[in-house]
Amino acid sequence: MRKILIVGGGTAGWMTAALFGKLFQGLYDLELVESEAIGTVGVGEATIPTIKKYNELVQLDEAEFMQRTQGTFKLGIQFVDWLRPGHNYAHGFGIIGQDWEWLRCHHYWLRANARGRARDFAAYSINTAAALANKFMHPRLEMSESPIGHIVHAFHFDASLYAKYLRSVAEQHGVKRTEGKIVDVGVHDSGDIASVTLEGGQKIEADFFIDCSGFRALLIEQTLKTGYEDWSHWLPCDRAMAVPCARTEPLVPYTRSTAREAGWQWRIPLQHRTGNGLVYSSKHTDDDAAEKSLLANLDGEQLANPNRLRFTSGKRRKMWNHNCVALGLAAGFLEPLESTSIHLVQSAAIRLVRLFPDTATDQATIDEFNRQSDFEWERVRDFIVLHYWANQRDGSFWEYCRNMDLPATLQRKIDLWRSNGRIFREGDELFGEESWIQVFLGQGIVPRSYDPLVGIKSDPQIEQFLGNIAATIDRCLEVMPAHSAYVSKYCPAEPVA
Ligand SMILES: Cc1cc2nc3c(=O)[nH]c(=O)nc-3n(C[C@H](O)[C@H](O)[C@H](O)COP(=O)(O)OP(=O)(O)OC[C@H]3O[C@@H](n4cnc5c(N)ncnc54)[C@H](O)[C@@H]3O)c2cc1C
Repeated sequence: MRKILIVGGGTAGWMTAALFGKLFQGLYDLELVESEAIGTVGVGEATIPTIKKYNELVQLDEAEFMQRTQGTFKLGIQFVDWLRPGHNYAHGFGIIGQDWEWLRCHHYWLRANARGRARDFAAYSINTAAALANKFMHPRLEMSESPIGHIVHAFHFDASLYAKYLRSVAEQHGVKRTEGKIVDVGVHDSGDIASVTLEGGQKIEADFFIDCSGFRALLIEQTLKTGYEDWSHWLPCDRAMAVPCARTEPLVPYTRSTAREAGWQWRIPLQHRTGNGLVYSSKHTDDDAAEKSLLANLDGEQLANPNRLRFTSGKRRKMWNHNCVALGLAAGFLEPLESTSIHLVQSAAIRLVRLFPDTATDQATIDEFNRQSDFEWERVRDFIVLHYWANQRDGSFWEYCRNMDLPATLQRKIDLWRSNGRIFREGDELFGEESWIQVFLGQGIVPRSYDPLVGIKSDPQIEQFLGNIAATIDRCLEVMPAHSAYVSKYCPAEPVA
C-alpha cells in the first residue's frame, strides 16, 4: 500500500484528504482529483457536535475556522409544525436537567407533567432554553455543577468555504491536488480498481481509492456495481431545492425545520446570509409548487436562483468494496433533517483510519468496516424516520408516513418507550437518549407511564427538583450573551462584497 487516490473534492473529499494528510504523516502518497467543471453539490451547512472532534483531529482553530466559513453556533434544531400546524418543539444538544436517584430527569417530568405541574420540556435543557432565547456562550467546563458547564454546540457554516479551508490544510500536509475530469476507470483482473484516466489522457494509478465523487458514485457504483439499498419507502422525500437569502436578525443559534405539505423546509443562519431549502416528495407535490412554497417562505431577500437536487434515500450495499471505500454522497444519502451527512463522512473516515489495511483487500477488515457502517447508518435512519412517522398532520404525504411499516429496530425502541419512557443507547449509535426523548415527546409519543422508581419521591419533592433546574437555567440565561454579539466578538467574518 503506497498510494491512495481520493476521487472528488467536495466536503467529503477534502475532509478525508485533510484527515489522512494529518494522521498518516507522509506514510502514503495522497492525491485528490476534482473537476471544477463538474463542481460540488454546494449544500450541507448544518452540523452536529461531533464535528468538533474532527476539527480537533485536523487541528483547526475554532475561531479561525468560523471566520473563514462565515460560521455561526448551533445549539440544536427547532421543529415547527412537525407534529401538527401551530405546534413546535426543539431537539437541543446535550443533557436535559439532571439524573436523580438512578433516573433520568424526564421520568420525573412525565409524572409532574401528567399532573399539570411541569413547565415545557424545553425549560429543563440549557441548550434548548438558550437557543430559543437567542443566547450563546461556550461552556465553562470548570462549572460542572452549573448548566453553563454543560452547553454543547455545533456549527452552521458555508460548506464550500469549509471545503476550501480544508483543502489548504490538506495541501499543507502534502496532499497533491489534480484538476481534471475522470473519463475512464481501469480495473485489474481481480476486480480491484487500478487507475483513473482524465480527459486529456493523463492516467493516475493507485493502490487504494476513496470514492468521494458525490451522487455520481463514479467508482463504487458506476465501476464496481456495488448496489444500493433503497430506503425511500421509509424516507419518501426524493427532491431538494436550496436557495440563499439575505441575513435577518436575530441571528439565531439553531437550525429551523418547518414541516410543509409534502416535506419540510430548512433555515440555516450564517454570518453573511441565510441558507434555505425544501426537501420534498415528488410523488406528493411537483417541482413548481415546491419552488413557490420555498420562495414564499424566505425570511430575507432571495440572493440566487434555487438549486434543484434529486436523490434516493438509502446507502450502498457495501461502503467498502474491493480496494475502494465510498464516503459522502457516493456512500448514500440520508436527508439533512438531523444534519448527519457531514458526521457520517467524518465517522467513516475515522473508521477507515482505525481499520486501515496493510493490503488493499483484506476481507475480514472490509467486512468489519461494512458492518460498523451499516449499523451507524441504520440507526441514524431510524431516528429520522421517527420524525415522519409520529405526525398528526393532514395531507397524503403525512398520512403515508403515519401508516408506513417501520424498521424492526425502530419499532422496538418505540414499544419500549411507550411502556415506561425508557430508552437505551445501543453500541455506538449516534443519537443518545436525550435526543430520542426530545423527539418522542416533541412528536407526541407520550409513554403510558414512567419508571416506577419515581414513586420513591413525593410530588412536592419532584416539583421542587424540577423547579430548581428550570430556575437555575433561567438564571443562566440572564448572564449569557446574545448569539449575534458573541459571534461578532469571537469570530467576526469578513463581510462579503
Ligand atoms: C439538499 C441537501 C442538503 C444537505 N444539508 C446538509 C446539512 O445541513 N448537513 C450535513 O451534514 N450534510 C448535508 N448535506 C450533505 C452534504 O452536502 C454532503 O454530505 C457533503 O457536501 C458531501 O458531499 P460530497 O463531497 O460527497 O459530494 P459533492 O459535493 O457532490 O462532491 C463531489 C466531487 O466529486 C467530483 N467529481 C465527480 N465526478 C467527477 C469526475 N468524473 N471527475 C473528477 N471529479 C469528479 C466533483 O467535482 C466534486 O468535487 C446535504 C445534502 C443535500 C443534497
